[in-house]
Amino acid sequence: MNDADCLFCKIVAGDIPSTKVAETERVLAFRDIHPKAPVHVLVIPKDHYANTAALAAADPALAGDLLAVAADVAAAEGVDQSGWRLFANTGDDGGQDVYHVHFHVVGGKPLGPMLAA
Ligand code: AMP
Ligand code: ZN
Repeated sequence: MNDADCLFCKIVAGDIPSTKVAETERVLAFRDIHPKAPVHVLVIPKDHYANTAALAAADPALAGDLLAVAADVAAAEGVDQSGWRLFANTGDDGGQDVYHVHFHVVGGKPLGPMLAA
């Protein structure tokens, strides 16, 4: 289940390079190309779902796999004790730019308030 026009499907296929940090049969984690913090990793399903709602409706077990990989990445990146943030921008108001569901794993410095004023 891939979308030929989707940037992250192309990363899964290896057609666009990425810096991989973790991989399972169904999940890929790679470094964000424009990191907002010392640790900034994206965790995605290899199959294409546009957003968290589509993923949760179609395959809640896969949604759980993403959370497990996110936690593993946080530990591997050494921020599990210092703290980290997990978020998925969704839709226009949520600031979603890539419509292939992804969790941001961010940490490595104090991240400040959850939202800009
Ligand atoms: P969002 O705005 O939540 O949809 O997040 C999309 C993220 O993808 C942004 O943080 C971008 O920096 C990141 N991004 C865009 N292109 C690439 C790429 N080729 N490799 C890694 N990350 C990317
Ligand atoms: Zn995709």
